[in-house]
Amino acid sequence: MRSDPLTLAAYHRKRDGACRRRAFLFSFFLVTCHLSLVTAEAAAEKPLNVVATLSTFADLAKTVGGEHVNVSTIAPATFNPHFIEPKPSDVLKVKRAALLIHAGLDLELWRWPLLDAAGNTRLFPGQPGELDLSQGIPLLEVPTRVISRAEGDIHIYGNPHYWLDPENAKVMAQAIGDKLSAIDPAHEQDYRRNLQDFLTRLDQKISEWKARLAPYQGQELVGYHKEWPYLMRFAGLKMEQYLEPKPGIPPTPKQVQFIEGYMRDHRIPAVVQATYFPRRTSDAVARDTGASVVLLCQNARELPACSDYLSMLEYNVTQLVGALEQGAPAGG
Ligand SMILES: [Zn+2]
Repeated sequence: MRSDPLTLAAYHRKRDGACRRRAFLFSFFLVTCHLSLVTAEAAAEKPLNVVATLSTFADLAKTVGGEHVNVSTIAPATFNPHFIEPKPSDVLKVKRAALLIHAGLDLELWRWPLLDAAGNTRLFPGQPGELDLSQGIPLLEVPTRVISRAEGDIHIYGNPHYWLDPENAKVMAQAIGDKLSAIDPAHEQDYRRNLQDFLTRLDQKISEWKARLAPYQGQELVGYHKEWPYLMRFAGLKMEQYLEPKPGIPPTPKQVQFIEGYMRDHRIPAVVQATYFPRRTSDAVARDTGASVVLLCQNARELPACSDYLSMLEYNVTQLVGALEQGAPAGG
């Protein structure tokens, strides 16, 4: 074999080149391994997918979960939460969720077909990804006898609109903090800190709200749907008569006539309703009796002024105080 110095140099170049390629491939391998680890870490840091049936629960979940949760809502705040028709996109949200937060009782009867369609067994009743916020809440209006939905009532296990009492919001936020910590213990400290911050702010606001409502204790208002008893109890106000003859049954002429008589007799200053009910009946009753109509937020984000839990309560208290300041209709 001819030993040509040029050929030898070429051989060395070739061998050096092969070595460099191997070194390059090894480096590439190391970089790839490193990138895989980084990707895995990023995946581990991905926020938890949380689905809340109502915007109020979503707001509390965001407040407590902070940057570690990605929260979506099923029921738009401007719709009656009893009667929601979930969309295919809602099925996808539930399918991908690690946690489903709901009101329990019979508020969201639409939750069952949604859960079935999504087939995410982690969120089924009693499973780790389910949080029924009614647990631990002292319920109002629990029937003393078994009642059937056939009678028209849609509050058959007790009144399900409990989140409007800020004292109950403490229980709910605590339950959300506990559940997030159980599902995602790596961020428990953050959840506990966010929870404590919220509870501190809520306590400050509760004192303010109580002080503003103090002059009106025991005064009476009339409602449209029976969704205010928890707020009324907190506010120290009375509400026993509603335009709906039964929860879920629209106002009948007979009921409207009764309510108008009742309001005149008791000099009731206002009819209270959520924004998602038509105002026609309340407006007519208010006109006939000299009362006013008070629109309150039943859920966070129902109105721009009710953008989160605290602002919703702030708004509701302000609306109530405004109507009560006006006093009873002239002429009684
Ligand atoms: Zn209801």
